[in-house]
Amino acid sequence: MKDSNIASTLHTLRQELAEAAQARLQPGPAPTLLGASKGQPVEMLEAAIRAGLTEFGENRVQEAQMKWPALQQANPAVRLHLIGPLQSNKAAEAVALFDVIHTIDREKIIDAVADAMARQGRTPDLLVQVNTGEEAQKAGVSPRELGPLLRYAEAAGLTMGGLMCVPPADSNPAPHFALLQKLAAEYQLRWLSMGMSGDYPIATRFGATHVRVGTKLFGARSA
Ligand SMILES: *Cc1c(COP(=O)(O)O)cnc(C)c1O
Repeated sequence: MKDSNIASTLHTLRQELAEAAQARLQPGPAPTLLGASKGQPVEMLEAAIRAGLTEFGENRVQEAQMKWPALQQANPAVRLHLIGPLQSNKAAEAVALFDVIHTIDREKIIDAVADAMARQGRTPDLLVQVNTGEEAQKAGVSPRELGPLLRYAEAAGLTMGGLMCVPPADSNPAPHFALLQKLAAEYQLRWLSMGMSGDYPIATRFGATHVRVGTKLFGARSA
């Protein structure tokens, strides 16, 4: 993609996000736009950075390790978010590489992340992924297990900043965004990471603080 294309797409997206945030019951600031950059080559990431994007979400620790360390060095303003499922054997690498981890979803991951943070002296922001659709194959804690998991994190010395969800494909996402918003209010959590290319305006209406946009921003991906 040419620099001018990505710059104009970014401009349009930011405008839409600002408008959707103004259409809330309680109008507020536009959510932070994360470029969901899985499967995108380094040249695309560089073009997005030149166009002014500073927040990026990657799904796999290994792919991010190949793409990001040099870009992070060259662009200190970049914030890198892990938005894909985390395995406990990758926790140390994730804590070393990412500024925000959106996908905390079980006790074993809390233990591994807490241990890595203590060893490395790093403090990434943390969100809990909630499996709002209670899909068997999907990552995330079920809504009714959220309270106990938050208490477990607190006991482990970790502060959770918010919640993240990926609604079931082919279903109306609005009830899932509404549920995530309700849970965040119930547990007094600030950040709501929700909304992708197909539904970011709806997610914003429901109070998203972070939207994760891939194809709409970068075009089709290779993986
Ligand atoms: C790929 C991905 C996105 C972006 O999806 P698009 O539909 O391409 O915008 C957002 N969130 C997560 C967790 C993803 O895996």
